[in-house]
Amino acid sequence: MPSQFECFQDGCNFMVRADSDEEVVHLVQEHARFTHDISLDGDTIESEIEHV
Ligand SMILES: [Zn+2]
Repeated sequence: MPSQFECFQDGCNFMVRADSDEEVVHLVQEHARFTHDISLDGDTIESEIEHV
């Protein structure tokens, strides 16, 4: 069951889907750091992950 995450920052259309939560967390952390200059902890990201 793929894991999916949609960025919750205003005006951002970033969406990622991967086979595991760990992979999504890693990709989202990189996105947040490079695009928004923020660091998100894994728990915050995991709470927003949908399984689709
Ligand atoms: Zn974003």
